[in-house]
Amino acid sequence: MKKVVIIGAGTAGTITANLLAKRAGKDVAITVVDADPWHYYQPGFLFIPFGMYTKEQVRREKKKYLPRGTEFILKKADHIDTAQKKITLAGGDTLSYDYLVIATGCDIVPEEIPGMSDGWRKNIFDYYTYEGSCALFDAMHNFTGGKLVVHVNEMPVKCPVAPLEFLFLADWFFTKRKTRTATSITFVTPLPGAFTKPVAAKKFGTMLASRNISMVSDFGTERIDAAAKKIVGYDGREVSYDLLVSIPTNMGSPLIEDSGLGDEFRFVPADNNTLQSKAHEDVFVIGDATNLPSSKAGAVAHFEAETLVENLLCRMSGKPLHKGFDGHSNCFIETGFNKAILIDFNYAQEPVEGRFPFPVIGPLSLLRESVINHLSKLAFEWIYWNMLLKAIPIPFIPTNMSLLGKKIPKQQ
Ligand SMILES: Cc1cc2nc3c(=O)[nH]c(=O)nc-3n(C[C@H](O)[C@H](O)[C@H](O)COP(=O)(O)OP(=O)(O)OC[C@H]3O[C@@H](n4cnc5c(N)ncnc54)[C@H](O)[C@@H]3O)c2cc1C
Repeated sequence: MKKVVIIGAGTAGTITANLLAKRAGKDVAITVVDADPWHYYQPGFLFIPFGMYTKEQVRREKKKYLPRGTEFILKKADHIDTAQKKITLAGGDTLSYDYLVIATGCDIVPEEIPGMSDGWRKNIFDYYTYEGSCALFDAMHNFTGGKLVVHVNEMPVKCPVAPLEFLFLADWFFTKRKTRTATSITFVTPLPGAFTKPVAAKKFGTMLASRNISMVSDFGTERIDAAAKKIVGYDGREVSYDLLVSIPTNMGSPLIEDSGLGDEFRFVPADNNTLQSKAHEDVFVIGDATNLPSSKAGAVAHFEAETLVENLLCRMSGKPLHKGFDGHSNCFIETGFNKAILIDFNYAQEPVEGRFPFPVIGPLSLLRESVINHLSKLAFEWIYWNMLLKAIPIPFIPTNMSLLGKKIPKQQ
């Protein structure tokens, strides 16, 4: 019997374990290792600061979502020895594998920004962690006016639309609380525009301007001056804040660096289409842990899992790997006032307008605000816990992106 070890039981590792158990049955022994007993629904971190979700709502016990028969080891993995096919766990125990799946995700690393720790959780907050999001609830509810700055330190970050969602929700939140006129909202980004892809960047840029949210683009952050409450750029520009909501540098797990498996951001180089590690044939990588040029998102991990599991089974039986993953990503973007936008794209096709999942009838609209998109974003939480994590197929959502219903501009 082949032994597959999955390190990380977040979104990607849990889907992989469930899909592999379904496809391989009793031919494969699955062991899952994770340092944390809690599974977090990270899209809910966006809603906690605005009081739209409670902190209890976003976390559940990890082991309940793993398939029956899986061995779950609740320990930190300290080192991977790919030559010996051996993992050293915290405390010194070791674990051997025939095939390894790295699903260790990524996290914010505020220490990467000089000066940030001086103001951390005083008037500098994040919402990319459970603790940060809960702490920001108080800061947002105590804020009666002044300068709110939302800051992205450097790319890539997971869920690259989440900073835009925070800005739109902040505009809605302060409008509702009648403090919007006393509040300036500024977006500081290292990108030249509001998003990475041109058509969507234009759309979001126009939306920010129409909501009186100013954007400071191409901003390379040199340091935070927490005493003077300002962000200082390499080019000498400075942005003042009263409340700074930052998305610090996102990096892979320290395990990746300690095992010599990562790039400068501790992301693991993997083939864009097969998800096999570039350095080790019996190692596959999924979700935020990869260095793929796709978005780092739960929806992406869900699409990747199909290819990864198929290729694990191919590798076990000596068959050639499938170049199945096309970079497919789709994502709801909350825009406040009970509306949201949906985008659907892959490596080759940027987000454009249209209807989803069916041409003409939709019912969801692409790159346009609608109430039904917002309701679908809220419904996604149920789908996440009950279908996506358990690798139950979601009707009408194709693994590879479909061009049906998309209005592709002629020049493309
Ligand atoms: C604010 C916010 C909003 C988001 N919104 C959306 C959205 O609307 N749609 C969407 O699709 N995605 C969204 N995402 C992104 C999505 O949550 C992530 O892309 C997804 O969780 C990635 O899954 P993963 O399994 O790769 O990583 P994770 O889910 O982060 O799991 C990684 C796991 O690895 C474990 N681990 C790490 N190192 C070790 C170690 N050394 N030993 C043992 N275990 C280890 C961790 O404990 C963790 O359980 C959002 C994220 C945030 C922060």
